[in-house]
Amino acid sequence: MSGSGREENPLKLREQYVPKAIALVHPITVVRGNNEFLEDDKGNRYIDLTSGIGTTSLGHANRELVEEAEKALRNLWHTCIMVANYKPYVELAQKLAERIKIPGSRKVMLFNSGSEAVENAAKSARAYTRRPYIVSFIGAFHGRTNLSLALTGKYRPYKPGYEPLPSHVVHAPYPYCYRLGFDDEEECSQRVLDIIELILDVQLNPDAVASIIIEPIQGEGGFVVPPKRFMDALGRMARDRGVPLIVDEIQTGYCRTGRFMAFENFGIEPDIVTLGKAIANGLPLSAVVARSEILDSLEKGGMGGTYGGNPVAASVALKVLEIFDRDNLCYRAQKLGSILAKRLEELHDRFDAVGDHRGLGVMRAIELVKDRRTREPDKESAMKIIDEARRRGVILMKAGYYDNVIRFHPPLTIGIENLEKALDLVEEAMKKVLR
Ligand code: PMP
Repeated sequence: MSGSGREENPLKLREQYVPKAIALVHPITVVRGNNEFLEDDKGNRYIDLTSGIGTTSLGHANRELVEEAEKALRNLWHTCIMVANYKPYVELAQKLAERIKIPGSRKVMLFNSGSEAVENAAKSARAYTRRPYIVSFIGAFHGRTNLSLALTGKYRPYKPGYEPLPSHVVHAPYPYCYRLGFDDEEECSQRVLDIIELILDVQLNPDAVASIIIEPIQGEGGFVVPPKRFMDALGRMARDRGVPLIVDEIQTGYCRTGRFMAFENFGIEPDIVTLGKAIANGLPLSAVVARSEILDSLEKGGMGGTYGGNPVAASVALKVLEIFDRDNLCYRAQKLGSILAKRLEELHDRFDAVGDHRGLGVMRAIELVKDRRTREPDKESAMKIIDEARRRGVILMKAGYYDNVIRFHPPLTIGIENLEKALDLVEEAMKKVLR
């Protein structure tokens, strides 16, 4: 047994006291962050191309956000929105309602995590429609709480042992054209839509479907970008059948794809949008934004939580919005995105093991395969590249149905020269692993 824990190796402490269910990609202990940099307890500095999984979009220890958080902490640390009203909650609700382009008037509920937002979005759709079924997608990630886990469309490592999960959830195929073996996006879209139509009209019945929930780009699924035509048609299919559409923007929101919301790239009209991650740059905060009619149908007192929309997180979220506007960060995401896209294209040209590269804005990825023809996933090489890149000073994350995708998720405030430098180091790492 160890003593008080002081002076002990933090990785040893983790091994002893934190279960392996909470996995660790990088065996390092970070002690501080500064914009695109992370520093570990040995004094090593890394360029962070993960942003805490798309969260710290305005960089680590952003000075303006630190000041805002300090001010809010001194002023009002916590009450509870069910005890008394406070301004940051309602002002943030107003701002989100104004900005998220759901048709008609909108209302907002604030929560702590993405999973909680998804959970409450799905509950709202069921309560509003008084219908049981929710259609989600294979490869989707919507969270780890009970209902959000049921909606998640990947079994390992999320589900084993945790069943039974809530019923009345059906998973449809996502138009992952590369993995489904289509080279033609039109054909891919049509075939997948045909199957979704069968699910809605034959397996279920639109009168029993409370909602369809979709990520506008699958995040954990490996940055899978659906064809625009698919999203268009799905939106129409849902509307024609009177099925509310939930768009999960938790990983894609706030300019990451070059548009404020990723769904704006596709011209679809959601009924409910879930937000998380970037909205408070890493403080625990999430939101459900929906048509007023949906949220007004919920029973008084049926939603809430002790911490949801905490005054400090909500104050920081207001500042985050101000900075996104002032610094035109959607434009910056497009600019960084074109640099990133060009570099990933070059990696695709240079290495046969890069079977596909894809993404929008600064949400981009490469998919590693053993054979370009068969597209057999190469999870081992992906992990080795991630390890080699860290040894050279770059932090990356994997993703994908088969864990064979490396995602590039830098903060939107990263210096262009540091993005280029990080990509040089990733290329070096790839040379070492793949040659
Ligand atoms: N939805 C999406 C699209 C996500 O990417 C995530 C987190 N990766 C979640 C929901 C769950 O969010 P949280 O981890 O904050 O519960």
